[in-house]
Amino acid sequence: MYDPLHDKSPGCGEKYPDSYWANISGTAPDNEGVLTQDIDVDVAIIGAGYTGLSCALHLAREHGIKAHILEANQTAWGCSGRNAGFILKSSGRKSFSTMQKQWGEEVMRGIYHEMEAGVQTVNDLIGEGIDCDVQDLGYIKVAHKKNKLKELVDLAKLQKEMFGYDVQILSKDELNQQYMDDHNAYGAIRYQDGFGLNPLKLAWGYQRFARKAGVRIHCSTPVTDWQEGKQHQLITPLGIVKAKKVVIATNGYTPKNFNNLVADRTLPVLSQIIVTEPLSDDQIAACNFLTSNVVMDTRALKYYYRKLPDNRLLFGGRGAITGKGAEDPYYANRLLSVLKTSFPPLQSLNIAYAWSGWICMALDDLPHIYQNEANNVFYSMGYCGSGVSFSVQAGKRLAEKVAEKAVPHLPLYDSALPKFPLAPLRRVGQWGYFHYGKIKDTWF
Ligand SMILES: Cc1cc2nc3c(=O)[nH]c(=O)nc-3n(C[C@H](O)[C@H](O)[C@H](O)COP(=O)(O)OP(=O)(O)OC[C@H]3O[C@@H](n4cnc5c(N)ncnc54)[C@H](O)[C@@H]3O)c2cc1C
Repeated sequence: MYDPLHDKSPGCGEKYPDSYWANISGTAPDNEGVLTQDIDVDVAIIGAGYTGLSCALHLAREHGIKAHILEANQTAWGCSGRNAGFILKSSGRKSFSTMQKQWGEEVMRGIYHEMEAGVQTVNDLIGEGIDCDVQDLGYIKVAHKKNKLKELVDLAKLQKEMFGYDVQILSKDELNQQYMDDHNAYGAIRYQDGFGLNPLKLAWGYQRFARKAGVRIHCSTPVTDWQEGKQHQLITPLGIVKAKKVVIATNGYTPKNFNNLVADRTLPVLSQIIVTEPLSDDQIAACNFLTSNVVMDTRALKYYYRKLPDNRLLFGGRGAITGKGAEDPYYANRLLSVLKTSFPPLQSLNIAYAWSGWICMALDDLPHIYQNEANNVFYSMGYCGSGVSFSVQAGKRLAEKVAEKAVPHLPLYDSALPKFPLAPLRRVGQWGYFHYGKIKDTWF
C-alpha cells in the first residue's frame, strides 16, 4: 500500500480500495479525466478529497474563481472515501478544556463555532440534494472504564455550560437498555447532533456541485514535480499546469518531499475499518442493538462503531504502522475480536469488508489552514482522524484566503503546522505512543 513517508507519489489512476463504500455506492460522477495538455490557471488545487472539493466549490460560488483540481487517483480516493462517515462537531484531538487553558475562553469558543459551522455546512450541502444515506441523529461517547464515566460527565457539564450544548448522560443500564448492550461500556454521554452517513456519496455530491459551479476536476493526474516561482509549474504525467496560486489538499496522503511548506509537519497514521456481514434479527435482539447512532470510546487508542442501514456493523480502530503491513489480515481480525468482546452474542459473525486509510496527525493535535509568505501556496491539513465535517469548513476558509478575504483570527488559521522534532523518527514515536496507549487503556 502507498506509504506517504516513503513514496513520492500516491499512484496514478489507482482504483478505489475494495471497501464497503466503494461496493455499495454505485458509479462515480463524471470528471474531466486525465489532463493531457499544458494549461495556465489562476488556482490549482492538489487533491480531490473533501478539502480540495470544498475549497474549489466555495471559490467558485462565493468568489467567482474557477479552480482546477488535480487528483492522482479518483475523487475521494484518500481518506474522504474510506472513512467511517461520522459527522461530529469536532476536529483534531485537542480538548476544549485544553484550548481554554491554552488560549482562553474567547478563542476556545471561536474554534467551537468553526467546528459547529462545519457540521452546518455539511448539512446545508446535503440539503441541496446529496443522497448519502444519512442515519438517525446521535453520537454516543462510551466510557470504556468506570473512572472514565466521571471524565465524560465533567466534559458534558463543561459543554452544557460553555456552549449550551445538549448532552445527555447515560448510566450503564440506560445505555444497555435504550441503545445497545456493549459489554465494554460503563456508561456514556450522548450528543444529539452527530450522525453517520455514506462518506463516498457525500464526496461525489460535492464533486457534482463543484463541476456545476465551473470547477474542472482532473482525475488520474498526479502532481509528480513542482517548480515554484511567481508562477508555479506543476508537473503531471501528460501536462504541465502553470498556476498563480496552488492549494495543497492532500492531508494524510501528502507524498514524501512534496513541498517544503508542509514537509515534516504531519504524521500519517493508518486507521483500519471492518464491515461485517449483516446481523440477523436474532443477533440484533441478542445485543439489544437498537441504535444507529455513531459510537466512539474513551480509550487513548480509540475504537469506533456504527450499525449501517443494512444492519452490518462498521468497526474501526488503529491499523498497521507502515504501508507495507497495511493489508495484513491481523489488523482486521484484531478489530473483529474486540467487537466480539463488546458483543459476545456475535461470536459467529464474519468480516465482509476490510480496508484502511492514512489519517493525518498534527504535533499540536490541531488542523492548520495556512499559507507561504508570498501568499500563493496554501494548505489545510492535520485533522487527526476527525475531518469529515471540519474539512468542509476548512475548505471554505481556504477559499477565503485564496481570494484574499479576511478569516477569523484563530490558531487554526493564524499559524503553521508545527514541525515534528526528529522528524525521521516519527514512526518510532508512534510505536512508543501505541505502547503507552495500550498500558494507559488497560490500567488507568
Ligand atoms: C479509516 C478512517 C476513518 C475515518 N473516520 C472518520 C470519521 O468517521 N469522521 C471524521 O470526521 N473523520 C474521519 N476520518 C478522517 C477524514 O476522513 C479526513 O479528515 C478527511 O477525509 C480529509 O479529507 P481531505 O480532503 O483533506 O484528504 P483526502 O480525502 O485524504 O484527500 C487527499 C487526496 O490527495 C490526493 N493526492 C495526494 N498526493 C497527490 C499528488 N501528488 N497529486 C495529486 N493528488 C494527490 C490523494 O490521492 C487523495 O485523494 C477517517 C479517516 C480514516 C482513514
